[in-house]
Amino acid sequence: MIPYGRQDINQDDIDAVIEVLKSDWLTQGPKVQDFELKVAQHCNVEHAIACNSATSALHIACLALEIGPDDIVWTSPVSFVASSNCALYCGASIDFVDIDTQTGNMSIQALTKKLEQSKSENKLPKAIIPVHLAGQPCDMYEIAELSKKYGFKVIEDASHAIGANYKGEPVGNCKYSDICVFSFHPVKIVTSAEGGMLTTKHGQLAHRAKSFRSHGITSDPKELLQQSHGPWYYEQQSLGFNYRLTDIQAALGLSQMSRLEDFVTRRNQLAEIYSDNLPKQFCHLTRLSNRRSSYHLYIVLLPEGLDQKYVVTHLRDKGVFAHVHYIPIHLQPFYQSLGFKKGDFPNAEAYYKRAITLPLHPNLTTQDIAYISSILSELL
Ligand SMILES: *Cc1c(COP(=O)(O)O)cnc(C)c1O
Repeated sequence: MIPYGRQDINQDDIDAVIEVLKSDWLTQGPKVQDFELKVAQHCNVEHAIACNSATSALHIACLALEIGPDDIVWTSPVSFVASSNCALYCGASIDFVDIDTQTGNMSIQALTKKLEQSKSENKLPKAIIPVHLAGQPCDMYEIAELSKKYGFKVIEDASHAIGANYKGEPVGNCKYSDICVFSFHPVKIVTSAEGGMLTTKHGQLAHRAKSFRSHGITSDPKELLQQSHGPWYYEQQSLGFNYRLTDIQAALGLSQMSRLEDFVTRRNQLAEIYSDNLPKQFCHLTRLSNRRSSYHLYIVLLPEGLDQKYVVTHLRDKGVFAHVHYIPIHLQPFYQSLGFKKGDFPNAEAYYKRAITLPLHPNLTTQDIAYISSILSELL
């Protein structure tokens, strides 16, 4: 079976993990710091904070921005559920902004319209979480302009997009956002098995996020609220979690980061080969100017008349593990129980009916793509 996504682990990655296993540290230690520094350097951003997943990074991103029960957060309905769950964890309410069907990303037109309307109803969101679908950055300049006009915070869900560029600069530099979050799940661009990272320019946000990552506890003498009891003393100052990454995972992530450029270059090459090979009736998501996608996913929209379920099943029968990204979040039973319903976000629903994800990972071959293309040609 050709998987839709797969990690690429080489001997250096394996050696890096073994080295940690032989060292004094297993949990959060020096490798986590090195990994954070490496990601911060790549992104050209002041602070990078590693977490045990992007889901936990999104959660503490919301907490660092003081999102709570009186707040509203908006994200894209075409994403993984973690993009919206993070707001619910904080007791906030969630709403969605419909997508642009050509890119699958949050539509700036829909966002502008929804902001105008919400302002008139006095229900503006506290934060917006744009999702860089498949690794192609959203229109961050426009989102940042709207955030200044309407006063909301921006968290980029860049789970798909490490290694992507926007206006010549790396995603994660937070030029147009308050916080950016990456995922290192094995199907993503680089992996630490499980893992995530939050980046920000703001020292205060970084400090808060770090505290939430580890129980809200500090032992830094400069931060203590009460008199120290002695050298063992620590204080819990807020309700945090254990969202720490291990050094074992960080060593893998760090080693993989040195291969990031190769991975993204290869993914872009493969995407080119796909578009040269696939029958023209299967159109890929529109590529926008001024940005480079990291191509986490290769998504195509099926031509009229081809049934999505039939195509995906047929591909899987032929050994090609096609997939669909994503079932619109508002159609999930849990979200329906919150009051969302079919028809709420028509573009997301129309996109979902036609989108399929074809395999894309660094070890996919030109022959694999030729094989996949031939199956799709036959289906026409
Ligand atoms: C994978 C993913 C996440 C969650 O990442 P984890 O590291 O598995 O928690 C969040 N948002 C999007 C868009 C994702 O694709």
